[in-house]
Amino acid sequence: MNIILLGPPGAGKGTQAARLVEHHGMRQLSTGDMLRAAVKAQTPVGLEAKAIMERGELVSDEIVSKLIDAELTAMGPDVGAIFDGYPRTAAQAEQLDAILARHGRKLDHVIELEVDEDALVERIIGRFTCANCGAGYHDIYKLPKVAGVCDKCGSTEFKRRPDDNEETVRTRMAEYRAKTAPILPIYDARGIVTRIDGMAAIDTVTDRIEQVLAS
Ligand code: AMP
Repeated sequence: MNIILLGPPGAGKGTQAARLVEHHGMRQLSTGDMLRAAVKAQTPVGLEAKAIMERGELVSDEIVSKLIDAELTAMGPDVGAIFDGYPRTAAQAEQLDAILARHGRKLDHVIELEVDEDALVERIIGRFTCANCGAGYHDIYKLPKVAGVCDKCGSTEFKRRPDDNEETVRTRMAEYRAKTAPILPIYDARGIVTRIDGMAAIDTVTDRIEQVLAS
């Protein structure tokens, strides 16, 4: 099974992808995570991407498509893929078709998480993760049970993404509206898009996605 999770920043793609990984043994392919790892490791890709990401703009199609291709090669054919934050442009959607064909895979579902943009800003600027295990938290919606201690691993170190500030978030949303939302008709024409209310409770969204995967 190969699926794309689409939706503006903060729609819950990463949260839902992590659940699918847990439930189905699928693999999350997040170009954002791959790029952040490249920035941290100061690879040539990371050095090129850093300033672009800090502004909330899009990294080049070639770079992200190469990252996806390499991950699929490393994964082997039997593991399902969840594309999270990719494709983000019409060119990437085309490149993904070619990459999937090369790997003998086909796209089963595109799930769009529909959300209210103003609520998203609050969602995004409040989010933080455990620096050790990556568990996700939020200043208002999901604080650790014991203040300052990760529920999952007990770490007391947390981090925030440098691009989760209001100005950058607005740019990321504008990029989504201008470049990513217009690729949906490509997948609509294939009859594989399901739209889900991304403002619903996290568990409700997961249930809806599970229904789609079972259909
Ligand atoms: P994300 O974690 O998906 O919100 O991505 C964080 C940032 O990484 C984005 O704001 C872009 O600068 C960059 N990025 C991630 N995925 C892509 C992609 N598919 N195409 C272009 N840029 C991307």
